Amino acid sequence: MAFEGLADRLQSTIKKMTGKGKVSEQDVKEMAREVRLALLEADVNFKVVKDFVKKIKERAVGTEVMESLTPGQQVIKIVKEELTALMGGEQSKIAVSERPPTVIMMVGLQGAGKTTTSGKLANLLRKKHNRKPLLVACDVYRPAAVDQLETVGKQLGIPVFSQGTEKNPVDIAKEAIEHAKAEHLDYVIVDTAGRLHVDENLMGELTQIKADINPDEIFLVVDAMTGQDAVNVAETFDSTLDITGVVLTKLDGDTRGGAALSIRAVTHKPIKFAGMGEKLDELEAFHPERMASRILG
Ligand code: GDP
Repeated sequence: MAFEGLADRLQSTIKKMTGKGKVSEQDVKEMAREVRLALLEADVNFKVVKDFVKKIKERAVGTEVMESLTPGQQVIKIVKEELTALMGGEQSKIAVSERPPTVIMMVGLQGAGKTTTSGKLANLLRKKHNRKPLLVACDVYRPAAVDQLETVGKQLGIPVFSQGTEKNPVDIAKEAIEHAKAEHLDYVIVDTAGRLHVDENLMGELTQIKADINPDEIFLVVDAMTGQDAVNVAETFDSTLDITGVVLTKLDGDTRGGAALSIRAVTHKPIKFAGMGEKLDELEAFHPERMASRILG
């Protein structure tokens, strides 16, 4: 299960505080030390950990806890609130363009789950929001990627705009938007090319697509299992493309949680969705508070 180690450690640390009628500064110090270790072990960015622990300490030794009738409970509440804030506080919504179609550009490294997530997102928009999406195959470097998106579209009964692998992805994306307008489709989800590593060619192409189609959202798809690497990838994509949100995939796996807990703090961009499995209905809106509750039990 995701976050298992982190959840176990935080819960046992916090349990020690629960029954306390009084919390001393020494207690808070010890708790903060344990929280710090638990987060570092979960592969959370060290700067993020430092700030987080500082905040908890400040609040816990403040009057908020000392004058409370249930100091232990109060400490738990603080940790939960700060974890929620760390992951972005409020749940963040998806854009709706005033002039349809709303264009969403999906970016990310190969294998992160971009194509699957494009399908999942189209499915979610249709099912939950009653929208009419169009999937667009712009990964023209791997014929298998175009086929994969077409298969996903077929499975879902959602139209896929593809023009094989000969054409320039910028032109495909532009034509797809025109097609969506003509067909009165209200969301266009552009599945772009990925590479195994961040490289200049990829960034150049994505920058060009962005400039030409002017998307309402740019979602970076990252694999939660890759921990700190996911955070570094997010920083790089964001500095080039100014992404609008992150989709964390494979949160159903055995991730330690570092990416989920650091990405927002490092990039200041919200985590919008979480991939919870390989099936096309396994995408959820990301709720920071629910995630914090899950970690703290
Ligand atoms: P792309 O190269 O970024 O387009 O990645 P794909 O969409 O082809 O996905 C790569 C692999 O990750 C596939 O085997 C997907 O089934 C799998 N995958 C994608 N999202 C999730 C997820 O949320 N959970 C799990 N367990 N697997 C996922």
